[in-house]
Amino acid sequence: MRIAREPRHDILFEPVPIGPKTLRNRFYQVPHCTGFGVDKPFSQLAHRAVKAEGGWAAVCTEYCAISPDSDDAPYVSARLWDEDDARALALVADAAHEHGALAGIELWHGGVHAEARESRWPLVAPSQLATGYRPSAVPKALERADIRRIQTDWVAAARRARAVGFDIVYVYGGHSYLPLQFLSPVLNRRGDEYGGSLENRARFWLETIELVREALGGECALAVRLSVESHGDDGVLPLEDGLAFVELADPLVDLWDVTAGGLVWPSRLDTGPSRFFAEGYQLGWTRAVRERTAKPVIGVGRFTSPDAMATAVRTGALDVIGAARPSIADPFLPRKVEEGRYGEIRECIGCNQCYARANYGRHIGCTQNPTAGEEFRRGWHPERIPAATEAAVDALVVGAGPAGLECALTLARRGLQRVHLVDAGGEPGGHFRWLTRLPGLGEWARVVGWRRIQLGRLRNVELLAELPLDAAGVLEYGADVVVCATGARWSPHGLSAVTHTPIPGAGTGLAHVLTPEQVALEGLRPPGERVLVYDGEGYLVAAGIAELLAREGYKVELVTFLEQIAPACDETLEGYPLRRRLHEAGVAMRRATVVREIHPDGAVAETEHGGRVELAASAVVLCTQRLSDDSLYHELAARPEALAARGIRALHRVGDCVSPRTAADAIFDAHRLARELESPHPALPLPHLRERFVVRAP
Ligand code: ADP
Ligand code: SF4
Repeated sequence: MRIAREPRHDILFEPVPIGPKTLRNRFYQVPHCTGFGVDKPFSQLAHRAVKAEGGWAAVCTEYCAISPDSDDAPYVSARLWDEDDARALALVADAAHEHGALAGIELWHGGVHAEARESRWPLVAPSQLATGYRPSAVPKALERADIRRIQTDWVAAARRARAVGFDIVYVYGGHSYLPLQFLSPVLNRRGDEYGGSLENRARFWLETIELVREALGGECALAVRLSVESHGDDGVLPLEDGLAFVELADPLVDLWDVTAGGLVWPSRLDTGPSRFFAEGYQLGWTRAVRERTAKPVIGVGRFTSPDAMATAVRTGALDVIGAARPSIADPFLPRKVEEGRYGEIRECIGCNQCYARANYGRHIGCTQNPTAGEEFRRGWHPERIPAATEAAVDALVVGAGPAGLECALTLARRGLQRVHLVDAGGEPGGHFRWLTRLPGLGEWARVVGWRRIQLGRLRNVELLAELPLDAAGVLEYGADVVVCATGARWSPHGLSAVTHTPIPGAGTGLAHVLTPEQVALEGLRPPGERVLVYDGEGYLVAAGIAELLAREGYKVELVTFLEQIAPACDETLEGYPLRRRLHEAGVAMRRATVVREIHPDGAVAETEHGGRVELAASAVVLCTQRLSDDSLYHELAARPEALAARGIRALHRVGDCVSPRTAADAIFDAHRLARELESPHPALPLPHLRERFVVRAP
C-alpha cells in the first residue's frame, strides 16, 4: 500500500473508543436516508457495504421506526417492528463487519412528525399541538400507558438490533422527533411529571435511554442524536436546554451525534445545501456540546477537506467526522485520505439531489457519484469497473459537459484503446461553465474539476478544446464509436410547459430577449434597468439569473406560471432560503402568471384568475424550457452508409442531448451507457434487479 498521507491528517486515523466498541478511525457515516429501508434490503446492504469497504469506521442505517406507531410513509424509513425486519437489517450489520466497520442503527419515533399514512395509527405527541411540519395533523396527547408502550417498543427494537449484530444503537431524538418534542418547552405543555421543569421534560428521553442501555447489556454502544438547538414552530429548543440535557444524560451515553435545527423552516439546518451553507457550518454546536461532555462527539457539515476535518478535531470542535453526503459522493473518502490519494476524492457539491431522490424518488442517487444507489441493482462499484470486452476501440465523445466528461472518463477507465473528448468551447464543462457562476453555485464546479483531474491521469484520453464538429467533421475524425454529448440550450422562443408554443415577440437576435446562456456565459446584459426573468422550470436557473442581475443593480421581477417560486428547490432543501435570499436581494416575485406576449417595453401576462397585466421591463430573460442540441446526432444517424464507410460501428448520444435533465441524471445516463457499451441496445438501460414480491403460479 502506498502511504503518502500528510502527517497532519494522522489524527483522523486514531481509533476512538465508544463504550464497549472502538471506531477504527474518525470517519463515521451518520444515518442518512436511501429510500431503501427494509423494503429493499439488498440495496440497503450493498449501499452501506461499499462505504464500509471504503474505510468508514462505522456505517449506519437511516432512521429506523421502532413500531407502527412511528410510521413515516410515504417516506421510506427503516423499520424494526419485528423479527422479519431484523433479519433484513442484519444484512447491513454483517456487511459492515465483513469490511471491518461497526454497524449503527438509528432507532426512531417521530411523534407528531411521523406521517403514519400507511399504518393509520393516530399521531402522538407530548401535548395536543399541531406543528408547521404538517399543520393539519393534530396529535393525540400521550397518556402514561402510551409512554410505557413506546418505551417498551424501543427496548424491543434495541434487543432485536443487538441480537442481529448491530454495534451502535441510537435513541434518536434530533430533528424535533418525539424525545425532543418532550424536551421542548414549546411543544411539551404537560402538567405531569413529563412536563414543566427541564428535569421533567427530559424524563421521557432519559428513561428511554436508561431502558435501552439495560437492554443492550453492555454489548453495544449507545448513541444519542440530538439537535442541540432549534428555533421555529416545529420544536423550539433553546441551546441552554439542549446543553443541560447533554449533562443530564451524559453518564448513560457512549456517543453524542450532534446536529442543530428542526424539520421546518426557518429552523431547518440539516443537510444544508452548498448554496447557503459552507463546509463545517455546524461546528459551533458540536463545540458547545463537546465542552459539556467527556464522551466522543460526532458532527456533520459536508466535510470533504481533510485539512478542515483535522483542524476540527485538533481544535476540539468534535471527535468524529460525521458524513452523510460526503460518504455518498465518495464512499472511499477515508481510504483515499489514508493513502494520500487526495486528488481522487470525489467531493460532494452540496446539491442535495441525494436527499431529493431518496425522499421523493424512493431511491437514492448522486450528482457526483453515478454509482450511488446502483450498487446492488446494477452491480456498480464506485471504484471498480469491468474492462471493455473489446479494447481495440477508439471512441469519439463530442461535447465535454458533465455527461461528455463522465462518458469519456468511464470509457477510458474501461480500458478503450483511445478516447477523444472534443468540445467547441475553450474550456470543458458545458453548461457548468456558466451555471457555476450563478450566486452560491461555486461548489458545483467540482463536477467538472474532479473529472478533469481524473482524465488528466489517464493515458488513453485526449481532450481537445475549441473544436466544433459537424457531421462531416465527425466522419473525418475517424473513430469506431461516436457518442454525442452535445447538451441542450434554453429555448430562445419561450417554449414552455404551459403554452407548448413560442411566446409571440420572443426570438433570437433581439436585444430585449435574452437566454440564461447569453446572460451568464456570453455576458450580455439587458438594455435598460428593469428586467423580467420568466421561469418555466422552477429549479435553479431562473432564480440564479434573477439574483445575479439584482445584485448587479437591475430591478428584477421573477415571474412564473408555477404556483410557487422555484418549487423544485423545495425537494433539495433550497426553496425556503432561496426565496428569502431573492427577497433580500430586492427581487420582486410573481407566481401563477403566464407571459402571453413580449415587446420591447415588457410583457403582457395573464394572472391566475384570467386577468391581464402589463409587466414593464426593458428586457425579458427566458428560462422556460431547454431543448436538446441534437442536430449533430440526427444528421449522423440519418447517414448509416457514411458511418459504415468510415468504419464508425456505433453512434450514441447521452445526457441532455437525449433529454434535458438534472446533472445527476445526465451524468448517470452517460456513465450507464459507457458501462453498457457492449449491450445489444446501449441506448436502452439493461434490466436491473428489482426487490419485490414475485407471485408465481402454483
Ligand atoms: P450535458 O449536461 O449533457 O453534459 P452540456 O450542455 O452541459 O450537456 O454540454 C454540452 C457540450 O457540448 C457544450 O460544452 C458544447 O460546447 C459542446 N458541443 C455541442 N455541440 C458541439 C459540437 N458540434 N462540437 C463540439 N462540441 C459541441
Ligand atoms: Fe453531494 Fe449532491 Fe451527491 Fe448529495 S447528490 S452527495 S449533495 S453531490
